Amino acid sequence: MCRHLAWLGRPRTLAELVLDPPSSLLVQSWAPRRQRYGTVNADGWGVGFFAPGRPEPARWRSSRPLWADPSFASVAPVLSSGCVVAAVRSATVGMPLEESAVAPFTDGRWLLSHNGRVDRAVLPPVRDAESTVDSALLAALVLDRGPETLGATVREVGAADPAARLNLLAADGTRLLATTWGDTLSALTTPEGTALASEPWDDAPGWTDVPDRSLVEVTPDGLTVTPLT
Ligand code: GLN
Repeated sequence: MCRHLAWLGRPRTLAELVLDPPSSLLVQSWAPRRQRYGTVNADGWGVGFFAPGRPEPARWRSSRPLWADPSFASVAPVLSSGCVVAAVRSATVGMPLEESAVAPFTDGRWLLSHNGRVDRAVLPPVRDAESTVDSALLAALVLDRGPETLGATVREVGAADPAARLNLLAADGTRLLATTWGDTLSALTTPEGTALASEPWDDAPGWTDVPDRSLVEVTPDGLTVTPLT
Protein backbone atom coordinates (compact mmCIF):
# COMPACT_ATOMS: atom_id res chain seq x y z
CA MET A 1 0.00 0.00 0.00
CA CYS A 2 1.17 3.26 -0.60
CA ARG A 3 -0.92 5.16 1.91
CA HIS A 4 -2.61 3.63 4.91
CA LEU A 5 -4.33 4.62 8.15
CA ALA A 6 -5.74 3.16 11.33
CA TRP A 7 -8.10 4.38 14.02
CA LEU A 8 -8.61 3.15 17.59
CA GLY A 9 -11.14 4.97 19.74
CA ARG A 10 -14.78 6.03 19.83
CA PRO A 11 -16.65 4.68 16.82
CA ARG A 12 -16.29 6.80 13.69
CA THR A 13 -17.97 6.25 10.35
CA LEU A 14 -15.82 4.93 7.52
CA ALA A 15 -16.73 8.09 5.62
CA GLU A 16 -15.35 10.27 8.44
CA LEU A 17 -12.11 8.29 8.45
CA VAL A 18 -11.53 7.54 4.77
CA LEU A 19 -13.52 9.93 2.57
CA ASP A 20 -14.44 13.22 4.24
CA PRO A 21 -11.24 14.89 5.54
CA PRO A 22 -9.63 17.48 3.24
CA SER A 23 -6.62 15.20 2.65
CA SER A 24 -8.44 11.90 3.20
CA LEU A 25 -7.23 8.57 1.84
CA LEU A 26 -9.63 9.27 -1.04
CA VAL A 27 -7.74 12.48 -1.87
CA GLN A 28 -4.41 10.76 -1.19
CA SER A 29 -5.31 8.22 -3.84
CA TRP A 30 -4.66 10.87 -6.50
CA ALA A 31 -2.87 13.68 -4.62
CA PRO A 32 -0.78 12.38 -1.70
CA ARG A 33 1.21 15.14 0.00
CA ARG A 34 4.11 13.19 1.47
CA GLN A 35 4.47 10.11 -0.68
CA ARG A 36 8.08 9.31 -1.49
CA TYR A 37 7.51 6.38 -3.85
CA GLY A 38 4.86 6.50 -6.58
CA THR A 39 2.55 9.37 -7.44
CA VAL A 40 -0.98 8.00 -7.46
CA ASN A 41 -2.58 5.12 -5.54
CA ALA A 42 -4.99 3.79 -8.13
CA ASP A 43 -4.33 0.04 -7.96
CA GLY A 44 -6.99 -0.76 -5.40
CA TRP A 45 -8.18 0.09 -1.93
CA GLY A 46 -9.29 -1.76 1.16
CA VAL A 47 -10.84 -1.21 4.55
CA GLY A 48 -11.10 -3.62 7.46
CA PHE A 49 -13.03 -2.89 10.64
CA PHE A 50 -14.26 -4.52 13.82
CA ALA A 51 -17.90 -4.65 14.91
CA PRO A 52 -19.19 -5.24 18.46
CA GLY A 53 -19.55 -8.89 19.42
CA ARG A 54 -17.60 -10.15 16.42
CA PRO A 55 -13.91 -10.85 17.08
CA GLU A 56 -12.96 -11.21 13.43
CA PRO A 57 -12.86 -8.12 11.26
CA ALA A 58 -15.13 -7.31 8.33
CA ARG A 59 -13.29 -6.36 5.18
CA TRP A 60 -14.05 -4.66 1.87
CA ARG A 61 -11.35 -4.59 -0.79
CA SER A 62 -11.30 -3.70 -4.45
CA SER A 63 -8.74 -3.64 -7.26
CA ARG A 64 -10.27 -0.42 -8.57
CA PRO A 65 -9.24 3.11 -7.56
CA LEU A 66 -11.10 4.33 -4.47
CA TRP A 67 -12.57 7.20 -6.48
CA ALA A 68 -14.18 4.68 -8.85
CA ASP A 69 -16.25 2.94 -6.15
CA PRO A 70 -19.40 5.03 -5.68
CA SER A 71 -21.14 2.18 -3.85
CA PHE A 72 -18.60 2.47 -1.04
CA ALA A 73 -19.16 6.23 -0.88
CA SER A 74 -22.87 5.53 -0.48
CA VAL A 75 -22.48 2.98 2.34
CA ALA A 76 -19.46 4.46 4.20
CA PRO A 77 -21.47 7.14 6.09
CA VAL A 78 -23.54 4.45 7.84
CA LEU A 79 -20.75 1.98 8.70
CA SER A 80 -18.98 2.87 11.92
CA SER A 81 -16.30 1.22 14.01
CA GLY A 82 -13.90 1.90 16.86
CA CYS A 83 -11.03 0.03 15.18
CA VAL A 84 -10.31 0.45 11.49
CA VAL A 85 -7.43 -0.14 9.04
CA ALA A 86 -7.69 1.29 5.52
CA ALA A 87 -5.30 1.59 2.58
CA VAL A 88 -4.98 2.72 -1.02
CA ARG A 89 -2.50 0.88 -3.26
CA SER A 90 0.18 1.84 -5.73
CA ALA A 91 1.41 -1.54 -6.96
CA THR A 92 5.15 -2.16 -6.94
CA VAL A 93 6.50 -2.97 -10.43
CA GLY A 94 6.08 -6.67 -11.18
CA MET A 95 3.46 -7.30 -8.51
CA PRO A 96 0.01 -8.76 -9.33
CA LEU A 97 -2.94 -6.46 -9.91
CA GLU A 98 -5.83 -8.20 -8.16
CA GLU A 99 -8.15 -7.69 -5.22
CA SER A 100 -6.33 -10.29 -3.12
CA ALA A 101 -3.10 -8.27 -3.42
CA VAL A 102 -4.70 -5.25 -1.72
CA ALA A 103 -4.37 -4.51 2.00
CA PRO A 104 -5.55 -4.98 4.64
CA PHE A 105 -4.63 -8.65 4.77
CA THR A 106 -6.13 -10.75 7.51
CA ASP A 107 -5.73 -13.96 9.46
CA GLY A 108 -8.15 -14.57 12.29
CA ARG A 109 -8.44 -11.48 14.48
CA TRP A 110 -5.72 -9.37 12.88
CA LEU A 111 -5.69 -6.90 10.02
CA LEU A 112 -2.37 -5.95 8.46
CA SER A 113 -1.33 -3.36 5.87
CA HIS A 114 2.11 -2.81 4.32
CA ASN A 115 3.39 0.40 2.77
CA GLY A 116 6.64 -0.37 1.00
CA ARG A 117 8.39 -3.16 -0.85
CA VAL A 118 10.55 -6.17 -0.07
CA ASP A 119 12.50 -8.67 -2.15
CA ARG A 120 10.31 -11.78 -1.92
CA ALA A 121 13.40 -14.00 -2.20
CA VAL A 122 14.58 -13.01 1.30
CA LEU A 123 11.31 -13.92 3.01
CA PRO A 124 11.08 -17.29 4.76
CA PRO A 125 8.43 -19.56 3.20
CA VAL A 126 4.92 -18.97 4.54
CA ARG A 127 1.65 -20.85 4.39
CA ASP A 128 -1.67 -19.31 3.41
CA ALA A 129 -0.56 -15.99 1.93
CA GLU A 130 -3.56 -14.31 0.30
CA SER A 131 -1.60 -13.38 -2.86
CA THR A 132 1.89 -13.60 -4.31
CA VAL A 133 2.37 -9.85 -3.79
CA ASP A 134 5.32 -9.06 -1.48
CA SER A 135 2.98 -7.41 1.05
CA ALA A 136 0.79 -10.53 1.37
CA LEU A 137 3.83 -12.76 1.94
CA LEU A 138 5.11 -10.33 4.57
CA ALA A 139 1.67 -10.14 6.20
CA ALA A 140 1.45 -13.94 6.36
CA LEU A 141 4.92 -14.10 7.91
CA VAL A 142 4.07 -11.51 10.59
CA LEU A 143 0.68 -13.04 11.36
CA ASP A 144 2.13 -16.59 11.47
CA ARG A 145 4.80 -15.57 13.94
CA GLY A 146 2.39 -13.46 15.97
CA PRO A 147 2.17 -9.68 15.80
CA GLU A 148 3.92 -9.54 19.21
CA THR A 149 7.12 -10.20 17.25
CA LEU A 150 6.44 -7.45 14.69
CA GLY A 151 9.51 -5.39 15.65
CA ALA A 152 11.86 -8.39 15.54
CA THR A 153 10.46 -9.53 12.19
CA VAL A 154 10.90 -6.09 10.63
CA ARG A 155 14.48 -5.91 11.88
CA GLU A 156 15.23 -9.37 10.50
CA VAL A 157 13.66 -8.71 7.09
CA GLY A 158 15.28 -5.27 6.93
CA ALA A 159 18.70 -6.85 7.56
CA ALA A 160 18.10 -9.50 4.88
CA ASP A 161 17.05 -6.86 2.31
CA PRO A 162 18.69 -3.50 3.06
CA ALA A 163 16.59 -1.88 0.30
CA ALA A 164 13.31 -3.01 1.89
CA ARG A 165 10.71 -0.48 3.00
CA LEU A 166 8.62 -1.92 5.81
CA ASN A 167 5.96 0.44 7.13
CA LEU A 168 3.42 -1.95 8.62
CA LEU A 169 0.11 -1.28 10.35
CA ALA A 170 -1.79 -3.95 12.28
CA ALA A 171 -4.95 -4.02 14.40
CA ASP A 172 -6.90 -6.64 16.35
CA GLY A 173 -9.89 -4.61 17.51
CA THR A 174 -8.31 -3.60 20.83
CA ARG A 175 -4.97 -2.14 19.81
CA LEU A 176 -2.85 -0.97 16.90
CA LEU A 177 0.76 -1.86 16.12
CA ALA A 178 2.83 -0.07 13.50
CA THR A 179 6.38 0.21 12.22
CA THR A 180 8.22 2.90 10.33
CA TRP A 181 11.05 1.62 8.12
CA GLY A 182 11.66 3.77 5.08
CA ASP A 183 8.44 5.75 4.70
CA THR A 184 6.34 8.34 6.52
CA LEU A 185 3.87 7.86 9.40
CA SER A 186 2.02 10.45 11.48
CA ALA A 187 -0.02 10.12 14.67
CA LEU A 188 -2.91 12.12 16.09
CA THR A 189 -4.14 11.59 19.64
CA THR A 190 -7.47 13.18 20.57
CA PRO A 191 -9.85 12.72 23.51
CA GLU A 192 -11.86 10.45 21.21
CA GLY A 193 -9.03 8.13 20.17
CA THR A 194 -5.80 7.78 18.22
CA ALA A 195 -5.15 7.84 14.49
CA LEU A 196 -2.05 6.61 12.67
CA ALA A 197 -1.68 7.56 9.02
CA SER A 198 1.00 7.57 6.34
CA GLU A 199 0.32 11.29 6.16
CA PRO A 200 -2.01 13.65 8.06
CA TRP A 201 -5.53 13.75 6.62
CA ASP A 202 -5.97 17.38 7.62
CA ASP A 203 -3.97 20.32 8.95
CA ALA A 204 -5.08 19.93 12.59
CA PRO A 205 -2.25 21.03 14.90
CA GLY A 206 -2.05 17.76 16.87
CA TRP A 207 -0.44 15.55 14.21
CA THR A 208 3.12 14.44 15.01
CA ASP A 209 5.59 12.64 12.77
CA VAL A 210 6.79 9.23 13.96
CA PRO A 211 10.58 8.90 13.53
CA ASP A 212 11.86 6.38 11.00
CA ARG A 213 12.67 2.91 12.36
CA SER A 214 10.15 2.97 15.19
CA LEU A 215 7.65 0.52 16.63
CA VAL A 216 4.36 2.13 17.62
CA GLU A 217 1.75 0.65 19.92
CA VAL A 218 -1.67 2.20 20.50
CA THR A 219 -4.03 1.00 23.23
CA PRO A 220 -7.01 2.72 24.84
CA ASP A 221 -4.45 4.08 27.35
CA GLY A 222 -2.44 5.91 24.70
CA LEU A 223 0.46 5.64 22.29
CA THR A 224 4.03 4.47 22.80
CA VAL A 225 6.91 4.76 20.32
CA THR A 226 10.03 2.59 20.69
CA PRO A 227 13.16 2.80 18.49
CA LEU A 228 13.65 -0.28 16.31
CA THR A 229 17.40 -0.08 16.02
N1 GLN B 1 4.64 -3.68 -2.54
C1 GLN B 1 3.24 -3.52 -2.27
C2 GLN B 1 2.39 -3.71 -3.51
O1 GLN B 1 2.86 -3.89 -4.58
C3 GLN B 1 2.93 -2.18 -1.62
C4 GLN B 1 3.25 -1.06 -2.55
C5 GLN B 1 3.31 0.31 -1.90
O2 GLN B 1 3.42 0.49 -0.70
N2 GLN B 1 3.26 1.28 -2.73
O3 GLN B 1 1.21 -3.66 -3.37
